Amino acid sequence: MPFLPLASPEPPPLLRNDSRAGVRQNPSFGCPIQQQSRPWIAPEPGAGAGPTPRQVDRLVDEGAKASHLPDGDAAGGDYRQHLKPTAAGWPVRPSWCVWIEPLASATPASSFEARWQRAVEAALATWQGELSIQRVATSDQAQVRLWRRRPPLQSGPDGRLRASHGRALLELRQVQRLGQWQLEPQVEVLISPGQRPEAIQATSLHELGHAFGLWGHSDQSGDVMAVSPTAKPVLALSARDRATLRWLLRQPGLRPVGAPDY
Ligand SMILES: [Zn+2]
Repeated sequence: MPFLPLASPEPPPLLRNDSRAGVRQNPSFGCPIQQQSRPWIAPEPGAGAGPTPRQVDRLVDEGAKASHLPDGDAAGGDYRQHLKPTAAGWPVRPSWCVWIEPLASATPASSFEARWQRAVEAALATWQGELSIQRVATSDQAQVRLWRRRPPLQSGPDGRLRASHGRALLELRQVQRLGQWQLEPQVEVLISPGQRPEAIQATSLHELGHAFGLWGHSDQSGDVMAVSPTAKPVLALSARDRATLRWLLRQPGLRPVGAPDY
C-alpha cells in the first residue's frame, strides 16, 4: 500500500466533505483515536433547587416511553414529546463516527456474517442521508459501535425476561482525543444476526435512531422509531422521523466538561 504524502495539495476524494457520497471509510479524519476516557457522573441537584425531573446519564432502549416533555407538534407531524434528554442535555453531535464489527477474515460474501454486515450498512446509509456520519476502522475512534450479537435477555416491567433482536445503550463519557477532553455520547448497539436481512436492516435502522439521539418512541407504526416492530419491516424514514430528527438537531447538545451545572 502506498504512503500518503505528508502534505498533499488537496485532500484525497475520501476526505471531501460530501455527506451524500455514501458511507465513507477513512482511518482518522474527523475521528481521532480516543486516548483516555472516564464515565461522566451527573452532578447532584443543589440543595434548595426544588424538584427537578429525574434525568439519567445512561439511556437504554427498553421500550419505555418518556412523556415528561409537555409540548409536541400539535399537528402530529413529529413525536418530539416522547424524546428523553440526558442529565447533560440532548445527546446530539454535529457529526458521528461509527464503527461496525468487522467480518472475520476470509469470510465468504454469501455468509451469514456478510449478510448481517450488508443489512447494517444499508441502515447506516439511510441515516447518512440526514446526518453527518463517518465510518471508522477502529472502535476507539467511534461514538457509536455496532456489534454482531444477540442482546442478552432483559427483564421487562412485569419482571419476566424478554428477548430482543436489537438494543442500544448510551453512556455519557469524558473522552480525550488529540489531547482535548470532551463530553461525548458513547453508544453500544447490539444487532442480532439471527434474523432475515430485511429484519436486520429494520432493527439496525431503529437502534441507530436511538444512537443518533432519538431516545424515545413514536406511537405510529409506520415510523422507524415506532414503539413495537410491525410484521412488515420499516426500511425507510417517515416524514415524522425526519421532522423529529430535524427538531432534535436544533436543540443544544451536551454541555462541555467543566461547564457549570444549571
Ligand atoms: Zn427502541
